[in-house]
Amino acid sequence: MMDSGGAEAESLDDFRTRVREFLRAEIGPPGDSAPLTLRNTGGDDAEDLREVARQRELQRRFFDAGLAGIAVPVEYGGQGLTPAHQRVMNEEIVGYDFAGRLQVPNMTPCMAVILDFGTEEQKREHILPILRGERLWMQFLSEPGAGSDVAGALTTAVRDGEEWVLNGSKVWTTGAWWADWGLCLARTNWDVPKHRGLTVFMFPIDAEGIEVHRIEMLNGNMDFCQEFLSDVRVPDEQRLGDVDDGWTVGLRWMFHERMGANSPYVTLPADFEHTALDGAAVLSVVAEAGAIDDPVAQDRIGEAETLHLVGQALTRRVGDAMQRGTMSDQASALVRMFVGLSLARRNTLTFELAGVDGIAWTADDGPIAFRGDDFLMRQAACIGGGTIEMAANVVSERVLGMPREPSLDRDRPFRDVPRGPR
Ligand SMILES: Cc1cc2nc3c(=O)[nH]c(=O)nc-3n(C[C@H](O)[C@H](O)[C@H](O)COP(=O)(O)OP(=O)(O)OC[C@H]3O[C@@H](n4cnc5c(N)ncnc54)[C@H](O)[C@@H]3O)c2cc1C
Repeated sequence: MMDSGGAEAESLDDFRTRVREFLRAEIGPPGDSAPLTLRNTGGDDAEDLREVARQRELQRRFFDAGLAGIAVPVEYGGQGLTPAHQRVMNEEIVGYDFAGRLQVPNMTPCMAVILDFGTEEQKREHILPILRGERLWMQFLSEPGAGSDVAGALTTAVRDGEEWVLNGSKVWTTGAWWADWGLCLARTNWDVPKHRGLTVFMFPIDAEGIEVHRIEMLNGNMDFCQEFLSDVRVPDEQRLGDVDDGWTVGLRWMFHERMGANSPYVTLPADFEHTALDGAAVLSVVAEAGAIDDPVAQDRIGEAETLHLVGQALTRRVGDAMQRGTMSDQASALVRMFVGLSLARRNTLTFELAGVDGIAWTADDGPIAFRGDDFLMRQAACIGGGTIEMAANVVSERVLGMPREPSLDRDRPFRDVPRGPR
């Protein structure tokens, strides 16, 4: 899948030097604009769209410097290098600006899945605009009645000549309102068991028949969307993978999603998932709260730092082992579980350390600002990208080889599976 030809042309050391020179000359520090979403950005859509446009332009600068799609084959516009080169980039980019909103789910899982299953024409049509920051993808996976049980999708695609007609609803699509294309899992066959009647489609989000509604999160952020698909016509050339074989695509899709920051297609500062609440950040909150000498606070600081360090080591170790082939790709579920639990716990600890000021703040309140916001949103780390409970299932069944959990609908035509009222 990944062309390693470029690796012979450029050693890791040479690549590191090239990245370092580019970052120093062209890219500044991250600044205070939110690289990712989930914070309440004040409901200013124009400001959000400007930030997305800025990140597209930033991505284009990486592309023009030959530093986008590092592990993507050259024939699709990438650099044809290796995951190790991508990792060098992620180490070097710490402390610099990066196009955070263009990484997950755009580069992975969406682009990764297109690379895995796209036809030659599809890859040539879609990969280059993704790498240039011109086409942003979102995943239309979850539905009001199918989240963890993704294979229970009710969004239906019916064939009509050379087109498919899609009807249904997808939900929790982060950023659908500012993105360009969607990757969508839909039911194409009701007469076979649920996993065998699915197909994946690709379409522009502004296609006729798609209505995008915004959903307000607990903290006021408006990035979540629900889409209603009414007779959306999708040409058969925009089908990804075989008809009724969408689960093969879906399994790989969820694998790429679990890979997160360990993906060879993602440019994120190394340990990004951990650094948001690293020792220095936690200590600055405690200092601001004036609690540095409190022994209870010291216990909490110790726990937060332990979680931070263990998470860093685990991510690195599992990433290395998967790269060497000594751990199965499914082991990324271990990291998924730990990072989710750790982030939720560290947000709780930091909120407690902030004291009463963590409950009411203004944006200029220094390190304490937004601690209450992050506390309210802490569970998102255990849900988005698949819940930690589902990751635990993957660990038990696919990493440890334990028996599969019972399923009452695995061998029944999906049409006959009892469903609650909708
Ligand atoms: C920040 C964030 C971003 C997201 N972005 C997207 C996106 O871009 N696109 C998209 O399609 N979706 C997105 N989602 C949705 C997310 O994928 C789903 O919320 C998630 O898969 C869970 O589905 P659900 O909410 O329907 O919960 P349910 O599936 O109803 O689960 C409810 C609870 O039951 C548990 N559970 C369910 N089945 C099992 C089982 N077999 N074994 C053990 N426990 C089980 C779950 O772990 C969970 O705790 C996002 C969610 C968040 C929080």
